[in-house]
Amino acid sequence: MEKRKIIEVRDLVKKYGDFTAVKGISFDVYENEIFGLLGPNGAGKSTTLEIIETLRDKTSGQVIVDGIDLDKDPEAIKKLIGVQLQSSGYYPGLNLTELIDLFCGLYNQKADAKELLAVFNLEDKAKAKFKELSGGQKQRFSIATTLINKPKIIFLDEPTTGLDPQARRNLWDLIQQVRSQGTTVVITTHYMDEAEFLCDRCAIVEGGKIIALDSPDTLIDQLVAGGFERTKEVKKANLEDVFIHLTGKELREN
Ligand code: ADP
Repeated sequence: MEKRKIIEVRDLVKKYGDFTAVKGISFDVYENEIFGLLGPNGAGKSTTLEIIETLRDKTSGQVIVDGIDLDKDPEAIKKLIGVQLQSSGYYPGLNLTELIDLFCGLYNQKADAKELLAVFNLEDKAKAKFKELSGGQKQRFSIATTLINKPKIIFLDEPTTGLDPQARRNLWDLIQQVRSQGTTVVITTHYMDEAEFLCDRCAIVEGGKIIALDSPDTLIDQLVAGGFERTKEVKKANLEDVFIHLTGKELREN
């Protein structure tokens, strides 16, 4: 079956003064996939995502989200997407339930705060303030809030940076769960194991250009077909497996 394109980016260019941060990139994201944008710092990932998220102007090119042209109706695109806030966006005086209610009001949506918090294992924190949460809890809450407006696509920017291995794996499960309910996920990460585990396809961005785009499996096969070999025999486990084995799978973040 032909996959439906939910994001289409064509010849996207972004200049900051004389500097061209995004140099004419084109890619599609299919409906319901987990799509990764990978690349070194400064490659142009955030700029690209923020343009699609309608948070930044482009210099040229075309962006179409769910059939809507960004140049024609950015407001309609905003309604279709869920974006994580910077932590400064969570009013310090409000607890998690109040924050969800506030966002519901802003989006003109109804959501059951208790239910949403339960999905993200935060039911015990309903009366806590954002700043009182652990790193993993903050990330879970921030992903929960992206779902309030029932978006078709969510954008996650390095969602597991700084988390311990248990919290990271827990977040992977949640991201897969969000996708299994029909949401398309666009994610940036510097962790290649994470991209390999989560992403159906990923684009590798370097110097404002896409230098590779395919499934992790295909990208790895292509490298191997080119004669690449690891210098050391790969063991059946890695140090993260040791860590999880010794410290258990359960989350601890109190
Ligand atoms: P990434 O997300 O891949 O780390 P960014 O999109 O943040 O990359 O940045 C791409 C390039 O654009 C970098 O060289 C960065 O310094 C530059 N850049 C980003 N934002 C601005 C801005 N507001 N003004 C000028 N240059 C910027």
